[in-house]
Amino acid sequence: MTTDTVAEHKPFQAEVAELLHLMVHSVYSETDIFLRELISNASDALDKLRYEAIAAPELTADGEPPKVRIVPDKKAGTLSVIDNGIGMDRQELIDNLGTIARSGTKSFLARLTEAKDGAGLIGQFGVGFYAAFMVADRITVTSRRAGTSEVWTWSSSGGNGFDIAPAADEVSKRVARGTEIVLHLKDDAKKYLEPYEIERIVGAYSDNIQFPIELKPEEGEPRQINSASALWQRPKSELKPEDYTQAYRSIAGAFDEPAMTLHYRAEGRQSYAVLLFAPSTKPFDLFEATRKGHVKLYVRRVFIDDDADLLPGYLRFIRGVVDSEDLPLNISREMLQNNPQLAQIRKAVTSRVIGEMENLAEKEPETFSRIWDAFGSVIKEGIWEDFERREKLLALSRFATTSGEERSLAQYVETLKPNQTEIYYLVGDSVERLKSNPKLESATARGIEVLLLTDPVDAFWTSAPLDFGGKPLKSLSQGDVDFGLIPLIDDKAADTEKPAADEAAIIAVIKDVLGERVSDVRASQRLTTSASCLVAGGAGRDRVLEKMLAQQSRGAVTKPILEINMRHPLVAAIAGQKDAARDLSLLLLEQAQILDGELPEDPAAFANRLNDLVLRGLVKTG
Ligand code: ADP
Ligand code: MG
Repeated sequence: MTTDTVAEHKPFQAEVAELLHLMVHSVYSETDIFLRELISNASDALDKLRYEAIAAPELTADGEPPKVRIVPDKKAGTLSVIDNGIGMDRQELIDNLGTIARSGTKSFLARLTEAKDGAGLIGQFGVGFYAAFMVADRITVTSRRAGTSEVWTWSSSGGNGFDIAPAADEVSKRVARGTEIVLHLKDDAKKYLEPYEIERIVGAYSDNIQFPIELKPEEGEPRQINSASALWQRPKSELKPEDYTQAYRSIAGAFDEPAMTLHYRAEGRQSYAVLLFAPSTKPFDLFEATRKGHVKLYVRRVFIDDDADLLPGYLRFIRGVVDSEDLPLNISREMLQNNPQLAQIRKAVTSRVIGEMENLAEKEPETFSRIWDAFGSVIKEGIWEDFERREKLLALSRFATTSGEERSLAQYVETLKPNQTEIYYLVGDSVERLKSNPKLESATARGIEVLLLTDPVDAFWTSAPLDFGGKPLKSLSQGDVDFGLIPLIDDKAADTEKPAADEAAIIAVIKDVLGERVSDVRASQRLTTSASCLVAGGAGRDRVLEKMLAQQSRGAVTKPILEINMRHPLVAAIAGQKDAARDLSLLLLEQAQILDGELPEDPAAFANRLNDLVLRGLVKTG
């Protein structure tokens, strides 16, 4: 006998073992979701079979209609979930039910360990099959891959790996195709044997699974307990908000309410039905590089692919279904990439999603705000990537500003100061820290509003040349700013803006001391109370972006320009000093670095220098 036909015991992959430990030992209130997960797997298996049968019709030659069957058995204390879908062979049982191939598993587990709302996270991650260990202390899975003769049984009690063995004869006869999952329910999970409980859960989570779900009570005939219709094919007028919420939860495996629902049918050169949702909460893996799209492609109600790139990356939070009437059913996943019909659908659907967000922003700003708060940092990637829709996306964007409110650019532009021709922004890592950034001083003295951008993506999209309503966007930490024509709101500040007498001499001294450390030293238009700040040259990248790229070794940080406030006593003092001029010059640079969240090159020397100067001051005045 080869190892292929004997029973074997195997350990779980480390991540699975950890996950199972959490499943078994923590008490999640929403154990109900195990059934949704098993039904969703069964439905996927039926989808896969239907897809494979397009090329290999013999797989479904038996004519058995696709379905899911749920069988409670009180005497045995078991609940079975059975499907006649694609099934799994031995290796697939080992791979699929012994490992997790998903990206982000590690970070998910870390968060699951800490979180109180475990069920919500489980829903987002879709731990799927393993959720069954919340209600069962032993699970056996018997499966026959469609079109094959071998039947294998996988069994596990969770803790100690799993066994894989050829199925016993009587089970093997029963499983003609597909998968039978038997849960040996824990004592406190026996309620799942009650038909009304099963119906309640299916009604709540799985009603619009496209395939019939049957319940086989202990007495009596099996009966269908879901409506088994493709909800997106039904007319809008027939559907209630609850139907949509339900569909969203079952399609997206989510628990929240959808913040936006888009349901329509396109007719014309191409016909297709669209049902899309924007979630109201942020999934934990939004920024995983390998996160896939979540819009499923169907062709005439047959599931084809859940990764057909139906929407651009910056809309990757949208969930739902596009069901085409025109694409060929036997389209291969590879062909999808270059299919011109699909490219048209993609374009049209993307525009509709953006259009719907525009609507929402106008008619239900609070709902739009929720989408923006959860996904704005992703949508903004589009400003950079989607040149064609750049203006629309900029118009949709909302920003924290020095006004303390979340504002759109349209609102910003409406309240420009007299003679203000530019939209000002600062990029940094927190709104609080940006608010005390000296580069804001002169703008603040004129009541000029400044956008405070704190998402990592902000450093990127702002590096494109942008304008809104004819007003260019301009960084306050880059190049020259000239507020000369914009009146001060407070005359006291005017005093601080008259240049000092020996400007040229002071700058020459500082330049001489700092030498190669800066690319230039100049008098600042930005500062009113602080002594100095660092800015980037006019061309090239914002300093924040440069620093981010340098951290990832994707570019060098160029030398900044040191701007000094000519009216600041510390700066003025340089003119009269011989000994201290060097220390003062270095301090101007070092404070500016600290204000930008950097460390001075030599922190110890910095501390000594500061102490020295303070002491000198004390001795003189004391
Ligand atoms: P996911 O559904 O997100 O892939 P699951 O943990 O729910 O994760 O399932 C893991 C894998 O096990 C599935 O991807 C599938 O390949 C396989 N699987 C689970 N249940 C079935 C089933 N009833 N029929 C066929 N394959 C299944
Ligand atoms: Mg699953």
